[in-house]
Amino acid sequence: MQSFELIRPRGIDGILSDWHPGDAFIAGGTDLLQLMKNDVVAPERLTDLDNSDLHAISLVDGSLHLGALATMAEVAAHVDVKREWPVISQALLLSASPQVRNMGTVGGNLLQRTRCGYFRDVGFDCNKRRPGSGCPALRGDNRELAIFGGSSHCIATHPSDLPVALMALDAQLDLAAPGSGTRRLPLAQFYRLPGDTPHIETALRPGEMITNVVVPPGPHARNSLYVKVRDRTSFAFALVSAAVGLAVSDGVIRDARIALGGVGAMPWRLPHVEAALRGQRADTSVFETAAARAGDGAISAGLNKFKIELTRRTVLRALRTVAA
Ligand SMILES: Cc1cc2nc3c(=O)[nH]c(=O)nc-3n(C[C@H](O)[C@H](O)[C@H](O)COP(=O)(O)OP(=O)(O)OC[C@H]3O[C@@H](n4cnc5c(N)ncnc54)[C@H](O)[C@@H]3O)c2cc1C
Ligand code: SF4
Repeated sequence: MQSFELIRPRGIDGILSDWHPGDAFIAGGTDLLQLMKNDVVAPERLTDLDNSDLHAISLVDGSLHLGALATMAEVAAHVDVKREWPVISQALLLSASPQVRNMGTVGGNLLQRTRCGYFRDVGFDCNKRRPGSGCPALRGDNRELAIFGGSSHCIATHPSDLPVALMALDAQLDLAAPGSGTRRLPLAQFYRLPGDTPHIETALRPGEMITNVVVPPGPHARNSLYVKVRDRTSFAFALVSAAVGLAVSDGVIRDARIALGGVGAMPWRLPHVEAALRGQRADTSVFETAAARAGDGAISAGLNKFKIELTRRTVLRALRTVAA
């Protein structure tokens, strides 16, 4: 691990005015420090975000506001989150371990780096870690990698659970950058697909930080669910996960939201499956027809082929359960 300097500025203004190229923000440190210890990243200076006053979880005009420094455990346990946005709480409780959830934050979870083993082992080439060096996963161990959104340069998945729930709920992010104030960006526009630049993962500008996540309310949010399929029942990343929200009245699906985790280069929304559900009766045959299309457009790299059928089954299970 390369030596580094740690600074602890106060407030967002202090943090942003102190920022220099080569710096990295540190929140809970549960991902960043592991990457530093393995020499995957080597920032010269860490800016601790703990004094940023971004820890609050609040309701503003009915929308949920999550400060970027709120911990995963705090958000999962919050009474309003559990009642109005249960998919968020469930996604978090199925993430990592209690110890990691006590340290890990909303902002850090959104920016967790891929769990592709080649990326995390500097003994291998990797286009994401060293642009232009190659992608050994394409012909190697790709069992856990993406079937949606990959490219001939990278098929890594985004590993986090929380952003899958947030994607289904049309969340927005507040971002603050040195010298240019704040902006609000839909989460759907935050992540970048790998294309031929897999090292560029988000729309963040130099020195820009996530300050807040805003989640709108709605009947689909209140009636929402997270299903996570993995190799073991705890402390494991998703092979496939589904965040589903259904608004149903008089037996008819008025609104449907579905996003997938574990299968996409970014949390992966399924608009065609949502469209196949809206206006239909909330019954098993409709769910089966819609879920059968959940693998449309998937591309297998070989060992991850099983994820295509697993995706269909996970979506079907989630729809049946949330409608029960
Ligand atoms: C064994 C293990 C199992 C795990 N299993 C799961 C799992 O099943 N599901 C899951 O979702 N996660 C899982 N995780 C990952 C864990 O949830 C993340 O490590 C955690 O969410 C990261 O949050 P953090 O605050 O510690 O981020 P940090 O490690 O502090 O930071 C992560 C990255 O985000 C950047 N960053 C942090 N905050 C901000 C901000 N506000 N603005 C801009 N940049 C910022 C940092 O610069 C860094 O690049 C697991 C982790 C471990 C160790
Ligand atoms: S899939 Fe992406 S992260 Fe994994 S080795 Fe290939 S380029 Fe690197």
